[in-house]
Amino acid sequence: MRPHHPSLRWAGVLVGLLLLAAVPGYAQQVPAGMRGQRAIVERGGWIRVLIASEQREVTIGVPSAFIVRSGDAEIARSQANAIVKCVARGGNLDLSMDGRALGRHAEAWIVPVRPGPDGEGFVLEGRKDRRFRGSCRLVRSGETVRIINEIQLDDYLKGVLPAEIGGDAPLEALKAQAICARSEVVHKIIRPPHDSDGYDLCAGVHCMAYKGMTLETAAANDAVDATLGMVLVAGGEVLDAVYHNVCGGITAPAEDVWDSRPKVALETVLDTDRPRMPPDLSTDAALLRFFESGGSDYFCYPASAGYPAYARKYFRWEKTLSAEQLARACGVGPVTDIRVIERRPSGRVRKLEVTGTGGRRIIEKELPIRQMFDLWSGLFVLRTSKSAGRVASATFIGAGNGHGVGLCQQGARVMAARGYKADAILSHYYRGAQIRRIYRP
Ligand SMILES: [Zn+2]
Ligand SMILES: [Zn+2]
Repeated sequence: MRPHHPSLRWAGVLVGLLLLAAVPGYAQQVPAGMRGQRAIVERGGWIRVLIASEQREVTIGVPSAFIVRSGDAEIARSQANAIVKCVARGGNLDLSMDGRALGRHAEAWIVPVRPGPDGEGFVLEGRKDRRFRGSCRLVRSGETVRIINEIQLDDYLKGVLPAEIGGDAPLEALKAQAICARSEVVHKIIRPPHDSDGYDLCAGVHCMAYKGMTLETAAANDAVDATLGMVLVAGGEVLDAVYHNVCGGITAPAEDVWDSRPKVALETVLDTDRPRMPPDLSTDAALLRFFESGGSDYFCYPASAGYPAYARKYFRWEKTLSAEQLARACGVGPVTDIRVIERRPSGRVRKLEVTGTGGRRIIEKELPIRQMFDLWSGLFVLRTSKSAGRVASATFIGAGNGHGVGLCQQGARVMAARGYKADAILSHYYRGAQIRRIYRP
């Protein structure tokens, strides 16, 4: 994507800011030519985020001066407070501004004159008046219109933090979240997940929860500004610094959850400040012992200061499914047996086998397992009761919320409330990674 606003000068910088952990080999190594860094610098910091789709018509309010373009042609201009209406009709977009027709176009681009950090953005009318920084692209898709927000990465992060970790989190937790979210986006745009549809990221949890300006808080914005351009680097590349809501006391290494290759700096970590080796939780008995012992040692223990009330239910949980619910979820008829057949050392279930009167199924990997039974995590022990050769009920005794890899958001909030700085929080969850500034707008 070409940089659209040439007044913003973008440069890559490679300044080692903080050495998080003295890992021999990395510490002296300057990671030259990281693909993630090249990807973000070449775009001048702009990313494309889908904020609405399948719309028949949309109304966009722009409080400040702006230009409407179609292709390279300017089709309208306003000084302030104008409304642009767009209706998808007959394979085109019918555009008007303040009631004046602007013709039919395949796409249009509403560009505030000052789209950068000090600009006033635009408002998607009728959706709780959601307001966004950056500019707004309207793209025809069949008989509907897609709305794509073109935005500077750091402005985008200001709309991500409140939706991800909560805009009321302590500043050092917000800074840690800003750095790992920035790293994950930079890593993603090496090969944007939605590139074939003409944008980079969606605004849901598939990519990253993003709510625009409406939920922004001063603290979250300060955290983004204070960490401008900073990412985590490991193994000579910008780290895909994934994160999750609650680990339950132990994080998962990448290979327990996704494909089986271990990834540098995404290892299993006990979520505590008492250094010890993570235990082997690959048996039911070991995991049950883990659930029952030492809860208050863990950063994401819900009674800790700084832990938000809404997330209390995630640390330890139980869910029971009846025979009918199991049969519906599994699709093998009435269930006669259900069991975990592979559990990883981080306690995460890797393979689950279901047998029913209509057949047998093996469900593999954390996400399909979670989705099948609508569970908060893949960290659970399964207990069943049987009657007349069938499973009468299945109880999932579980811990945590999310995939469990990388930073534990509630653990990070508690660490910050106890006085840990962002660099210490990140070095706890991403062993061996370093913080580096990779660009300067
Ligand atoms: Zn997505
Ligand atoms: Zn945790």
